[in-house]
Amino acid sequence: MNGLPDHPNGPVQMIVRPKARKISLRLDHATRQATLVLPHKRYAAQGEKLLRQRSTWLSEQWQALPPPMPFVPDAKILFEGEPTQLVFEQGRGRARHIEHTLVVPATQIEAFATRVRRALIELARAALETQVAIHAQNLNLTPNGVTVRDTRSRWGSCSSAGNLNFSWRLICAPKTVLSYVAAHEVAHLREAHHGPAFWQEVARTYPEPAPARKYLRDHAPQLFAVGAIQ
Ligand SMILES: [Zn+2]
Repeated sequence: MNGLPDHPNGPVQMIVRPKARKISLRLDHATRQATLVLPHKRYAAQGEKLLRQRSTWLSEQWQALPPPMPFVPDAKILFEGEPTQLVFEQGRGRARHIEHTLVVPATQIEAFATRVRRALIELARAALETQVAIHAQNLNLTPNGVTVRDTRSRWGSCSSAGNLNFSWRLICAPKTVLSYVAAHEVAHLREAHHGPAFWQEVARTYPEPAPARKYLRDHAPQLFAVGAIQ
């Protein structure tokens, strides 16, 4: 459903989500797409009014987005917290992180963006599995499994079945930050909440979490700009 005039800074999509409790306007930092969410289509006129009222706010949000870091040859992305140049290599095989470059083989240039994305997911999975294993051993816990996806609202989560789920974007953050999120989710295997007992558990395997938490708060827009195209 899309019946809205475009905003000067980009398109606004209107969707009906019956579970939504109220009309809301949000900007997805990864796709840079603004979405107006309505609990029912009968709120369309109210939704358009909200959009008009919040037009300046939306422009400011759009303009505040950091420059996109698209997956194109020679562009720089964030990798392990450092600006890293993407290098296209004609061929097959695994991506290689060499100093400040990430060499990504692709059989053709058209496939490059997809290959970069897959390479980042694979590298994130390997790094997260390693960190999860270390923290799980320190805390004497056993996770059920580790999955890596493009999550939006959380860097990691822990299901009641003991599955740990992470955002691939953590590979773009410094290693210490990725390790912190792994420790955080492993600690949830014992303590489901965020109370003092949980933070004591985290501290047993990751003693100083404050800098990593601050990094994630401060750098979320940059991490979401990785792979953005517009
Ligand atoms: Zn948590």
